[in-house]
Amino acid sequence: MTAAGWADDGAIGLLRVLMSPSAEAVSWMDLALCAEVDGDLWFPLKGSSNREAKAVCMQCPVRAQCLQYALDNEIVHGIFGGLSDRQRRARRVAGKEKAA
Ligand code: SF4
Repeated sequence: MTAAGWADDGAIGLLRVLMSPSAEAVSWMDLALCAEVDGDLWFPLKGSSNREAKAVCMQCPVRAQCLQYALDNEIVHGIFGGLSDRQRRARRVAGKEKAA
């Protein structure tokens, strides 16, 4: 991460700052494609497009790990694993309904 802040390292920069991720998580985070792109794309303002961030996520070698991490930790903001916060919430709800 640069001295300018976590947003310079994409969604993963925020995780590293807020969540003190485990060593296992850190290993896949080192391969995060978003760390190489403008981090603001992963936290679009309301009404802004998230298409560009999602397109990068679809090319990311750790997309599955990232999505699972976001779901497991109920991360409610930003694009993670190629899904918006709303899409991840829908998955969590669907998973809880399936388990019930
Ligand atoms: S899937 Fe997207 S948010 Fe997750 S590490 Fe890759 S580029 Fe970053």
